[in-house]
Amino acid sequence: MNRIGIDLGGTKIEGILTDENYQSITRKRIPTNQEEGYNSILESIKNLILELVQESNDKVSIGVCTPGALSLSSSLIKNSNTQCLIGKDLQNDLKNILHYNVFIENDANCFALAEAKLGAGKNSNLVFGVIMGTGVGGGIIIDGKIHHGRTNIAGEWGHHCLHAEGNICYCGNKGCVETYISGPALERQWSQMSGLNQSLPEIIQNSDNPNFGSWKKSFLDNFSLSLSNVIDILDPDMIILGGGLSNIDFLYDEGKSSIYEKVFSDTIDTPIVKNQLGDSAGVFGACLIS
Ligand SMILES: [Zn+2]
Repeated sequence: MNRIGIDLGGTKIEGILTDENYQSITRKRIPTNQEEGYNSILESIKNLILELVQESNDKVSIGVCTPGALSLSSSLIKNSNTQCLIGKDLQNDLKNILHYNVFIENDANCFALAEAKLGAGKNSNLVFGVIMGTGVGGGIIIDGKIHHGRTNIAGEWGHHCLHAEGNICYCGNKGCVETYISGPALERQWSQMSGLNQSLPEIIQNSDNPNFGSWKKSFLDNFSLSLSNVIDILDPDMIILGGGLSNIDFLYDEGKSSIYEKVFSDTIDTPIVKNQLGDSAGVFGACLIS
């Protein structure tokens, strides 16, 4: 049986066809065109899947990795930063137009699963994978399987509270991790501190700026508090960082030290490592759920 994995992102939809050992046979990429709305996205995914099916010489199983969580009570998508997906039943809508069974999973869980089985976490039993990019999320993998939890919110690390009276989040709560260490949040903080509107890679290059030290300290304080909380509760074998912010080198030395200082243990040695699959974690994660 071959596998098809679709990674539905905010700007692009990527598809892969693999053999049963997850070796790539072919890959395709198309734009998401969010502004054209849900039905257009549905049609794009359908066409992409049918193209991949045509290139398969065997039966296929199909998985889709999507932003946002799936509501346990209704199977509808909630909390997605691709807004036109919210409240939609993507899984059943795809089944109905494709006449194939389709599995669906949120992007942070797909990332964590792909890295745990095929990437940086291959020999670890309990892996916590985090995505830090435009949004912030996490996934828990135990013995090669996604831990969903009783109400399907396990690993929703981006929306646990760091500061009780902190920044207001779109989710309705205050002080969520995502409002401090997502790319847009960090760029906003930099703009307030320095008066400069710069992208995150530009800010990192600008370390001579007199405001850089306090910006970085605040970033590391929030990063380390949010991950030390995870270690205190889960004590994972490995934490794997993904998303655009995983390219920031100081997270792996100063960031790691700062986490260790906050953990409730005197023997902390949890590896904090960079992903190995890069942008491909989504499509491989989607293959792995099908
Ligand atoms: Zn939130």
